[in-house]
Amino acid sequence: MPLITSFDPWRSGLCTCPPKLTFNPYTGCDHKCLYCYASSYIPNFADCRPKKDLLAQLRREAAKLNGETISIANSSDPYPRAEASEGLTRRCLEIFAGNNCKIQIITKSNIVARDDDLLSKVPAIVALTITTDDDNLAKQLEPNAPSPSQRFRAAQDLIKAGVPVSVRIDPIIPLVNDLPENLIATLASIGVKHITCSTYKAKADNWKRLSEAMPKLAEKIKPFYFEQGEKVGGSVILPKELRFKILKNVRDLADSYGLKFGVCREGLPQLNTAACDGSWIMPKREAQ
Ligand code: SF4
Repeated sequence: MPLITSFDPWRSGLCTCPPKLTFNPYTGCDHKCLYCYASSYIPNFADCRPKKDLLAQLRREAAKLNGETISIANSSDPYPRAEASEGLTRRCLEIFAGNNCKIQIITKSNIVARDDDLLSKVPAIVALTITTDDDNLAKQLEPNAPSPSQRFRAAQDLIKAGVPVSVRIDPIIPLVNDLPENLIATLASIGVKHITCSTYKAKADNWKRLSEAMPKLAEKIKPFYFEQGEKVGGSVILPKELRFKILKNVRDLADSYGLKFGVCREGLPQLNTAACDGSWIMPKREAQ
């Protein structure tokens, strides 16, 4: 199995990302987010483990690249807790940097700021997922992930080091985090330039986790999904009018704070004010 593959999430036709490749240094993730999608198709998901023969295989595959954008990672977090001591993702970044690649990181861990020295020298952006500015709510939603406060500090450190940061408010769950004015105000104040949003997509296993952890909420939002919602692949999503209403409201908030905005896999590209994944802020540095 190749480690580096084309980015083509769910082959649903909803993705509006510019062409890129994807790479996951780890299989599984220990952040245990209630809403995680990847746990539905990767066995033993919470048992986070590095890919077999990771560095040797990556060196072989990366040697064939020249200037491609690599998205790290889309089916796991490249900075699970073990990364603090293992440093495997950092070594992968060194390999990509040595092969002229552009690097796009997606994480909800503050460990990424450790690598700002490396990321500030190459064409790179970091997309930090921050679903809420409320540390207590985040502890419920993302039990093992670093707190939003830690992620804000990481964003500040990265920006200070010259690494552009976009933020993914992903997923937006109705009645939970669909009015993120304080979050957006904070992001604008620390220099974030772009927000990407996506509404929660219910799958059998993430819905089970969500409804066990937050039963009252699940009762309230159940009709939006399972009576009025739409089926897309193996997921049930909110009805289009409700997705539009929620996302337009966030887009307008982003506009009012001077931030660019994109939606992720929503079928609503008319809401985007810049490339959906924030890649427009990638600096044009010479690759190493
Ligand atoms: S950080 Fe991402 S991959 Fe890890 S559990 Fe949360 S949603 Fe899943």
